[in-house]
Amino acid sequence: MEVPFFDLKRLVELEKPQLEEAARRVVTSGHYILGREVNAFEDEFSRYLLGAGTSGFVGCNSGTDAIVLSLLAAGVEPGGEVVVPSNTAIPTVSAIVSLGARPVFCDVDKDTWLVTWRSLETRVSKNTQGVVLVHLYGNMVDIPAIRRGLKEQGLTPTLIEDVAQATGSRLGEKAAGTLGDFGAFSFYPTKNIGALGDGGGVFCANSNLSERLRMLRNYGQRTRYLAELPRGLNSRLDEMQAAILRVRLAGLDKASGIKDRQMALYRQGLSELPIALQLVTPGCKPCWHLAVIATESGEIRDRLMRHLEEKGVQTLIHYPNPVSSQPAFKAYADGRFPHAESLATRILSLPLNVTLTPSEQEYVIQSVRSFF
Ligand SMILES: *Cc1c(COP(=O)(O)O)cnc(C)c1O
Repeated sequence: MEVPFFDLKRLVELEKPQLEEAARRVVTSGHYILGREVNAFEDEFSRYLLGAGTSGFVGCNSGTDAIVLSLLAAGVEPGGEVVVPSNTAIPTVSAIVSLGARPVFCDVDKDTWLVTWRSLETRVSKNTQGVVLVHLYGNMVDIPAIRRGLKEQGLTPTLIEDVAQATGSRLGEKAAGTLGDFGAFSFYPTKNIGALGDGGGVFCANSNLSERLRMLRNYGQRTRYLAELPRGLNSRLDEMQAAILRVRLAGLDKASGIKDRQMALYRQGLSELPIALQLVTPGCKPCWHLAVIATESGEIRDRLMRHLEEKGVQTLIHYPNPVSSQPAFKAYADGRFPHAESLATRILSLPLNVTLTPSEQEYVIQSVRSFF
């Protein structure tokens, strides 16, 4: 059997008529930038995050730009320190560096694989202008605990959630992206809701700041041909992607339920093997983006990956190098990040998505078991 890691073509097949109808609507509309589809998606997504009667979600071009726009709106300055976990995707950090701000790496917890107050405590100071909290794989950072820790130390950096992998996750009653000052989303095609191209956006409950985001994404203009902010970008979500995302948003909770069951099957099927899964933060209900396992050593991980490849099961590593070890960012790595470094050698992502069939998943589980 051949089990692909992610099959975008199969994913489109599931909703082909709705997606084609959305695309057709845009083609014939005569309006392609910041029109009714973007407005409607922004409203629907705000409502999904916070309930009726709210706005505050601002679409943009990508998850990377969502972080850039958040940092700009927050007023993070060139040279300003922004704390960020080493265990994340490269764009979390390149967004910070692209503004001339300075990433200060921190480690992650050995069980949740995420930033905690403990891993952050020694890295924040009065020089910290921002902290990017990454909800990796769908699991969520305990932001209330971090807020308490910061408050006790009298620190007030801007908190930016990197929600790229956790759209649809909740901590208690709160949706990922609504606990920090800014929530930066990615709609890259494989993410929890995926465009058929690039897309992203920022949720911000503060209406002055969300207005700044709207200007920053559109050349710094509030009204046409009048620039009010000097560092504006062109980072708009386009009408075509917004129309597609409205279809995908409507199916998000159903998709989350399917992936939740798949994750439970992995937990069950792999339970007595020498494998660790990510510890879910207490109170979090993840919308899973990736099913990541960790072996006891890097050598075992590499052999397991080869074994699965021979069985026809495609796996990936998210991510093989901690960002603090990347050639581009080494200059900022002023220490060691033992948990992030160890995880990078031991983790492996198994197929998890709505197009994975029960028999395919059973085959993946049997293939992992046969290795041990
Ligand atoms: C995908 C991703 C991003 C970047 O999103 P793009 O839409 O590809 O720019 C940022 N952070 C994390 C954790 C991601 O997974």
